[in-house]
Amino acid sequence: MCSNKENILDQVTNGIKKDSGLSEAETNFEFKFSSQPTLENLSEELLDFCKQRNWQQYHTPRNLLLALVGEVGELSEIFQWKGEVPVGLGSSFNEKEREHLEQELSDVFIYLIRLSQACKVDLPKAVEAKIEHNKQKYPVEKCFGQSKKYHEYN
Ligand SMILES: [Mg+2]
Repeated sequence: MCSNKENILDQVTNGIKKDSGLSEAETNFEFKFSSQPTLENLSEELLDFCKQRNWQQYHTPRNLLLALVGEVGELSEIFQWKGEVPVGLGSSFNEKEREHLEQELSDVFIYLIRLSQACKVDLPKAVEAKIEHNKQKYPVEKCFGQSKKYHEYN
């Protein structure tokens, strides 16, 4: 990482610590996903899973969207009533709760992939384009350390 990016990350992290009252360890965002399986691997596996069960007939865009929203609800329930929790979860989640979190995050991701398939949206490319769009919408020099909506910066 270049020093400018490290500097920005430090400032963001310090801002979060200041706002949330969390320690440095609780705001450490450094984390890497595994390189395998790829999104395309998962996409193919999900498609096979559905074809083998003849579930394609039920997986219309609308049905998949509603299933996705349902899973977001299940994910939300895990955090409900816990109050704020630190990045990395700290001691807020026991092993069983963490496993439940992994399962619900996976359900959300699975339906997001299926919905993207059903809509024939190339999700990685769409996300890449959206990030670029957000960079234009939220220029660092105007937005740094602020949580306002884009229309409030002008
Ligand atoms: Mg679920």
